[in-house]
Amino acid sequence: MVRELDAGVLRFHLEYELRLWLRRRVAGLHTEHPTALYLETSSYCEGACADCYVPAVDRRRHLELDADTLERLIADAERLPLAFVCLVGGEPLDGSVAERNLRLVREHPRTRFLICTSGEPQIGRDLVRELGTLCNLSLLVSFEGLAETHRRIRPRGSFERACAAVHTYRRQGRGMCGASITLRTDNWREATSRAFVESLTAAGCHFLSYAPCETRDGRQALDPERYAHALARLAALSASATALIFCHPFGQILGGKVPTVQRLRSLTVDYAGNVYTARRGPSFGNVHRTDLSTLLARPDLRASYGVPEATGAAPAPASRHQGGDRGGLRGVAAASDGSCG
Ligand code: SF4
Repeated sequence: MVRELDAGVLRFHLEYELRLWLRRRVAGLHTEHPTALYLETSSYCEGACADCYVPAVDRRRHLELDADTLERLIADAERLPLAFVCLVGGEPLDGSVAERNLRLVREHPRTRFLICTSGEPQIGRDLVRELGTLCNLSLLVSFEGLAETHRRIRPRGSFERACAAVHTYRRQGRGMCGASITLRTDNWREATSRAFVESLTAAGCHFLSYAPCETRDGRQALDPERYAHALARLAALSASATALIFCHPFGQILGGKVPTVQRLRSLTVDYAGNVYTARRGPSFGNVHRTDLSTLLARPDLRASYGVPEATGAAPAPASRHQGGDRGGLRGVAAASDGSCG
C-alpha cells in the first residue's frame, strides 16, 4: 500500500514556508538572498552521466566536506534562514556517505532537507527504516526522460530502478518525494510530455522539479527559446497534473502564469568548499576561508542572481499561457541548479 503524505509532515513544510516568508518580509532581506543551500557532501559516485559536473576523476574518489564545516554551514542556513538544504553528490545515498548524510538530517530537525539521489543505490531495509523516521526530509530522484532516454543520458542508470526508489520511499518515507529533471536539447520534448509527467506521477512523485542542464563550458544546454517552449508545455500540463510542477528559477508553474520574480535561487558548496551560484560558473570563494554571510554579501555573487534581459527570439506561448506574465520567461538564462545524484 502506498502511504499518503503524513499530515504532520505537510504542516512542517507549510509552516516553514510561512515563517520564512514572514521573517523575510519583516527583516526586509534582499531579494537576491538564496532560497536553498546545496551541499556536495562527497564527490563519490559510480555513475557516468552525460554532463555530470563532478569531474570523472573526482567521482571515483571520496573527497568530502568535513563534519565541522557541514555543521557550520547548516547552522548558517538556519540562521539566515534558507528555505531548505539539499544534500547532493556525488551520490548522497552511496554506502560510503549515506549514514553520515542521514545523521545530519536527524540531528537538525528544524532544517528542511532534500536528498537528491540517482535512485541507483538500492534502498535496503536499514535505509528504509531510517528514511521512515525523518519528518524533515524529502527525497528527490533524478530522471532524464522515459526508459530509453534515461538510459542514454545515464548509462549506468535505469528508469525502472529510479521508479522503484520513488515507490519504496512513498511506501516507507515520511516526507514528500519528487523527481529532478534536467532539460537538454535531446530530452526536453519528452521530459515535458504528458506521458512522462503521468509516468512519474504514477511512480509516486508528489512534485517534479525541472532545471536546464549546464554544459561543460558553463552554458545552459537548452537555448532560451526552447526553454521558453518547455515552460509553456509544463504550464499547460500543470493545471491538470496531480504532481506539483516546479521549474528553476521560477518556482511552481501554475497553469497559465509564470511569476516574474525569480523565486528559486541556489547556492552550492562543492566537496572542496568552493561556492557557486551556477555549478559551472565562477566560484565566489571558499567556505574553509570565509564564512557564508560574508560570501553572500559579495556584490558579484548577488548580481549573479539577477534577472537578465530577454535573449533570443520571443517564445510562442501555448494557448493556456496567453494570459500569463511573459516577463517571467525573461529569466530563462539565469542561474539554475545542476543535477546530481
Ligand atoms: S549526475 Fe549524479 S548520478 Fe550521474 S554521474 Fe554525476 S554524480 Fe553520479
